[in-house]
Amino acid sequence: MSSVLLDATTAPVRADGASEDMSFDAIVIGAGIAGLYQLYRLRQLGLSVRVFETGSGVGGTWYWNRYPGARFDSESYTYGYSFSDELLRDWNWSEHFAAQPETLRYLNHVADRFDLRRDIQFNSRVSSAAFDEATRRWNVTLDDGQRYAARFLITAIGPLSAYTLPRIPGADSFRGQAFHTYKWPQQPVDFAGKRVAVIGTGATGVQVIQTIAPLVGQLTVFQRTPNWCTPLHNRKITEEEQQKIKAGYPAMFELLRQTPGCYIHDADPRSVFDVTEEEREAFWEKLYSEPGFGIWMANFRDVLTDAKANALFSDFVARKIRQRVKDPKVAEMLIPKCHGFGTRRVPQETGYYEAYNLPHVRLVDTRRTPIERITETGITTSDAAYDFDIIIYATGFDAVTGAFDRIEFRGVQGQRLKDHWADGPKTYLGLMSTGFPNMLTIVGPHNASTRCNIPRCIEQNVEWVTELMRSIRDRGVTRFEAISEAEADWSRHVEELAAGMLYTQVDSWATGINSNVEGRNVRRILQYQGGAPSYRARCDDVAANGYKGMTLS
Ligand code: NAP
Repeated sequence: MSSVLLDATTAPVRADGASEDMSFDAIVIGAGIAGLYQLYRLRQLGLSVRVFETGSGVGGTWYWNRYPGARFDSESYTYGYSFSDELLRDWNWSEHFAAQPETLRYLNHVADRFDLRRDIQFNSRVSSAAFDEATRRWNVTLDDGQRYAARFLITAIGPLSAYTLPRIPGADSFRGQAFHTYKWPQQPVDFAGKRVAVIGTGATGVQVIQTIAPLVGQLTVFQRTPNWCTPLHNRKITEEEQQKIKAGYPAMFELLRQTPGCYIHDADPRSVFDVTEEEREAFWEKLYSEPGFGIWMANFRDVLTDAKANALFSDFVARKIRQRVKDPKVAEMLIPKCHGFGTRRVPQETGYYEAYNLPHVRLVDTRRTPIERITETGITTSDAAYDFDIIIYATGFDAVTGAFDRIEFRGVQGQRLKDHWADGPKTYLGLMSTGFPNMLTIVGPHNASTRCNIPRCIEQNVEWVTELMRSIRDRGVTRFEAISEAEADWSRHVEELAAGMLYTQVDSWATGINSNVEGRNVRRILQYQGGAPSYRARCDDVAANGYKGMTLS
């Protein structure tokens, strides 16, 4: 497609003189849920778009995370795209919380159905992007040296895509198989009879552990910090439920627009202290028996904000863990002592605690006996040496800003985004940064999306960006940028919303901590905590007021 925004005479040509067009109205980085939808929308505007994707297929998170047990913990039907009635009508989710292969099939179906692949360049990792003030364009370079240009640059690189491995001496010497969960092989891994180690007990580790525990010869879990895990209660969707789900889509999406995280669960307006102890226990038993994140999001309103309320509920979940894990010593190891329920992402589990009742599953506390090195045959801690055939690193991500750091973004006068964000992100609406004109960061830092049922917030981000692009096209604008006061005001607003919240007092990826990355030991505010409806209202207000806080020229 030819460009509607670029002057053809200024378009770059390939050094070798080949005729392929290397310049576009917009370049999108990433072909996950966000990149696919952004491509679809920009194409509708008539813009020429090229999407660069590191993987060999679409799907982003769901392309990479093929580890055993990977599945949704949002209800499947709340997670799919909402923009196409036909897509909603035709696609049948098989389970209330679909597994990764089904989600990847879904995203491939979307790519095919809307003929998206022809504008996606796979196996293409963007290594750098530099804004050229003279041409008002972004020059984008891939790992292999290929260069492209576009008026606008849109990042859709995901909040959890920069995976991190522990800095443990000897890791390269291990002679067995070793995988990070994010870089899981496309071919099935044979666990039968194998001695397997899992390092990490976040939402990913929990899914892996509960899934492979019955399959392996021996499983050793290396846990540094236990998490508060609650039951997922997944099951198949019956034919009758399928019909109801489809008939209920309009009302459901309307509800999702109103809840803070765009989930079907919303906080109970009561305080923990409004009810008797018996009522409280009965309510919590009910939540514990229900599917999904209700226990986290539809709990008493003060469970996540009041330390005393939080301690009472944490105690309830601790009792559940003690009931489910037979060995009291192991149960105590699995009960978090340093953070309250819900102040870190709650892993949802299916038989996770029961896995520790199996005779061939053991738990190692790496705070008590730290991992000292990885050897050719296994893992050595301060008090024992363990031999393994497979080591699984479920060790997480350099979250939210990590993927940005891995690309050399250079804005006005060559300024690096990494330096601009060195003391924590500075953004306007979590969608742009001063000094980086014509660049938009879908699911970027300070954006509501990482506290969200993410496709819902992705759709909002993409639709806002698309309207901006429409306005720019119609007005003949070639450059936009966030004003620095607007950036400072937004960044302050995001910090103020998060101040005093219980989660900000805890180390986790959501507060920007990662022991495996140099310098990631200081908590940062990465997420907009005002809830998706307020975030949407603020974005809409900016658009309705002629994109206030931005210069458009
Ligand atoms: P994570 O929550 O950051 O967990 C990483 C785990 O590895 C933690 O237990 C961490 O311990 C441990 N770890 C890291 N480095 C270590 C080291 N050097 N030595 C020992 N232990 C180490 O990462 P994740 O489990 O991959 O989950 C990240 C996020 O992805 C989740 O919070 C969730 O938002 C998302 N996710 C979603 C789904 C879903 O939707 N179904 C599934 C999985 C994940 P510490 O806690 O002590 O740092």
